Amino acid sequence: MSTDGPEAGEGDGRTPAADATEVTTRAATDDPTVVIVGGGVHGTHLAVRLLEEGVVGRDELRIVDPQGLLGGFRRQCRQCGMDEFRSPFVHHVDRDPFSLRDFARARGREDELVSSSVGADRPTVSLFFDHADWVCDRLGLASAVVEATVTGLEERRDGVDLETTAGRLRARWCLLAVGHGGAYASPEWADGLPASAPVSHVFEREFDPAAIGETAAVGVVGGAITAAQLATTVAQPGREVTLFARSPFRVETLEASTDWAHFSGVVADLQALPAASRERERTVLEARHDGSVAPHAFRRVREALERGSVTLERSEITTATEAGGTVVVTCRDGSAACLDELVCATGFGSPYDGVLLRRLGAGDALETGYRGAPVLDDGSLRWRRRDGSRSRLFVTGAAAQQVLGPFARNVIGARRAGDLIVEALASQRELRAR
Ligand SMILES: Cc1cc2nc3c(=O)[nH]c(=O)nc-3n(C[C@H](O)[C@H](O)[C@H](O)COP(=O)(O)OP(=O)(O)OC[C@H]3O[C@@H](n4cnc5c(N)ncnc54)[C@H](O)[C@@H]3O)c2cc1C
Repeated sequence: MSTDGPEAGEGDGRTPAADATEVTTRAATDDPTVVIVGGGVHGTHLAVRLLEEGVVGRDELRIVDPQGLLGGFRRQCRQCGMDEFRSPFVHHVDRDPFSLRDFARARGREDELVSSSVGADRPTVSLFFDHADWVCDRLGLASAVVEATVTGLEERRDGVDLETTAGRLRARWCLLAVGHGGAYASPEWADGLPASAPVSHVFEREFDPAAIGETAAVGVVGGAITAAQLATTVAQPGREVTLFARSPFRVETLEASTDWAHFSGVVADLQALPAASRERERTVLEARHDGSVAPHAFRRVREALERGSVTLERSEITTATEAGGTVVVTCRDGSAACLDELVCATGFGSPYDGVLLRRLGAGDALETGYRGAPVLDDGSLRWRRRDGSRSRLFVTGAAAQQVLGPFARNVIGARRAGDLIVEALASQRELRAR
């Protein structure tokens, strides 16, 4: 564990008593001790851990997110028609790994733990979120939420100032749990289409699968799990649904080998490479089963193809043109189609390209590496300053993948980040002194 003694800017030279006085004063002026930016799976799990492990009290914690607790992730799951998780029932936002199973048992909902041909049972989406709501209610997390976007952030000697759309916040520590921060991957042919073209990305806030016309010709672009789920969800009698998947389906249970989920041997090898480097990025990308479909989603799409409710176009769209409220696409194999709706299920962009991380990385205080990856301390996930010292900012989620490996963005990644960040914060003198 590398949360060694105090560094410049982290209370150096002050006595625990002085820090304790400051915490008391801060509580009186309503400044939180810890601000978590992002209330997704990562932000919520971190909040649970900090409270349950007594690192902060509820009045010392804020979670800033314009979508509230888990609002963004809930919306993403709904928009792509997901009904089961890919990961096992021990991956959820609570601290105790068996909390979700016990929650299901106590409510007679064991049938919502869907059996899996490989590995442990998986929760349905409704069970996962009902359990998460119960965890948040139990800890009164709603009272810590600030529904706002963080637009800027500056470190000062003993804390962090955050600019938000709801005003300024000042805290001792800041945890960045912003996911991909709105960085979606869209195909090149979608660039330059007029706003009136019926082309969207499945995770855009504006996309509403329920608004698709009953007899619409719908195209879904992508060959991974999200595209498979979306195509089978929108395939309803009366509609013509085409799935544009340029490569053969790759069926994988999880998003990487389970070796990575133990955060030991392979992760140690990853961390032996230079921080925020091209080599680390390549290792993570090679380990991720990007573009894969989980067996349960593959089964769904295979059945839809057999029934004929979805047609497979095994080619790549090369051009798209708006034509009187429809979009006309042509594919590499020469085929063409006229569609009422075209939805890209083409995943996310680089985790370092979200608005806030980009802005912070472009400043002169924090160190970034290959393709803007934050340089993080392997032992604590603290973002390093350009002078090599550790800042008061922690990073979790996809942007921490060069430290945690290919599962960094997943629920299991949040749990591992929780171990490191809670330990690092708990070892700080000012928090210990409380
Ligand atoms: C459809 C889908 C299914 C998935 N299924 C699984 C699964 O079965 N198992 C698994 O382990 N993983 C799964 N994942 C991967 C991963 O667990 C999720 O993507 C998870 O939501 C990541 O959590 P996060 O908190 O890092 O990011 P997010 O859920 O994206 O949350 C980030 C939050 O930060 C907020 N935010 C961003 N910028 C700012 C800002 N400047 N100010 C304030 N707030 C900000 C956003 O509003 C958002 O709510 C799935 C992902 C998707 C998209």
